[in-house]
Formats: sequence, C-alpha cells, structure tokens
Amino acid sequence: MHRGAGAYVCGEETGLIESLEGKRGWPRIKPPFPAVEGLFGQPTVVNNVETLSCLPHIIERGADWFTSIGPDHSAGPKLFCVSGPVKNPGCYEGPMTISVRDLIERGEFGGGMRDGKKVKCVLPGGVSMGALTADELDMKLDFADPRNYGLLGLGTAAAVVIDESVDMRIVLRNLARFYGTESCGQCTQCREGTSWMYKIATRIAAGAGRIEDLDLLLETARNMGMMPGYSICGLPDGATYPIETIVKKFRPELEAAIKAQPPGNAEALLTVLN
Ligand code: SF4
Repeated sequence: MHRGAGAYVCGEETGLIESLEGKRGWPRIKPPFPAVEGLFGQPTVVNNVETLSCLPHIIERGADWFTSIGPDHSAGPKLFCVSGPVKNPGCYEGPMTISVRDLIERGEFGGGMRDGKKVKCVLPGGVSMGALTADELDMKLDFADPRNYGLLGLGTAAAVVIDESVDMRIVLRNLARFYGTESCGQCTQCREGTSWMYKIATRIAAGAGRIEDLDLLLETARNMGMMPGYSICGLPDGATYPIETIVKKFRPELEAAIKAQPPGNAEALLTVLN
C-alpha cells in the first residue's frame, strides 16, 4: 500500500506507476503496456482496490455466487458513494440493480434530500461521466444504462448531488477549473482545451457570458474528443462529458442567466471568482 499525493491523473495506471517511482505523475505513452513493462521496468498489473477486494470472496464462494448478485451484464456487488445535500452522505455497497433515485432516497443509502431540498442535477459516476437532470434519476447504476442517458459510463459510481438552489453556471465553472488544473499538460488538445473551457466557463459564471460561449464550449469539447488515441490518457474524455452534458441538458437555465446578467458587473464578479 502506498498513499498517493492526490493528483487526479495519478488514477491513470501509468501516471500512478511514474508517481510510485518517485517521478512527476505523468501518464506514459503506450505501448509498452504496464503488463509488459511497468513499475521499475517490470511486468505490472494495476487494478482498482475495489476489484481486488472481490477476489477472496470469489475464490471462497465461487463465481456462481458472484454472478448471482446484480444483473447479468453487471455482476457482483458495487461500492456506491453519494455526496451533496442528502441526509446520509457516504459510501455504500449494493447490487447494480439500483437506480440513482434509490441511491439518493432509500434509507440504507442516502436517505433522501436534506431540509426538503429538491434535486436539480446529479453527476452519478464521479464528475467525469457527465450529468443527469432531475428527470433522469431512474437511470440504473450498472455498466450499460448510463450510455442511454448520454453519459460516458458508470465511472466510480460516486454520485454528486446538486440541489435546486445551485446556479449551474457555478457548477460548470467549478468542473472546468478542476480539469484545467488537473491536466498534466503533455498533450496539446487536453492542455489547451481544458484551459479554454475553464476561461469560457469563468466568463459565463462571472456574468460576462455570451450565448455563443455555450456553443464555443461544445465546439471545444467536440474538438478535444474528436481525436481519440491522440492523447496519452483518457482525461480529455472525462473533461468533455460533464461540460457537454451540462451545456446541453441545462441550456435553458444557462441561456436565461446569460440574458439576465446585468451589464457592467463582470469585473467585480471576476475578482470574487478568482
Ligand atoms: S491527456 Fe491530458 S492528462 Fe492525459 S497525459 Fe495528455 S495532457 Fe496529461
């Protein structure tokens, strides 16, 4: 066991290996893949702790026991996290038959929203998988259903719940800032794209946005995602899905906020935001 220093990109296996070797956590160009040449040049298998923790139980109880939990295409137990304004934020184990609504509302999981608040948006797979609206909470937390809702996948199944009082311009900007600062900077479309998205989202959040900025965000995201295999790791995909889904699914709110912004307040707001 080795405690990481918190860099997001060190969740990528070769970035993790570089970090373990005491170097800056930069993902490596592949091939060679870690199974051939990994930690200190030796064959290395990197797996999630959650995956490894299933192994003793599968060996002791058998594969049939494991696959009897959850649907056929998403077998086995899963750790689900829920954070935000729910009564019982935390990490829970369950089968992949539950929905986002179950995770938020059921007593053995989130226990419902705090203080009578209503859900506005959920990022159900960690932030990198994309966003759901309040009308999409019946999405199953399995390996297949998230694609039906325009998401990248199940991801970490660590749901972030956002309530009705939150301005989606601030959510958009916080997400863009995260990827802008977590890109390691080796690949052009990731380094430039995430930083452009951060600048555009900051302009919108500061009250100086333009309607065309929403299209500019979508175009930037599209250009970053148009070149699969041209970046060293998958961070650009993870950066584009939340931005794209929020702009597309919450566009009426974002447009209304841009149209309603009072003139002349951008400079003051920018100071506050920065
Ligand atoms: S895609 Fe982004 S995070 Fe990944 S290696 Fe390239 S610059 Fe770094």
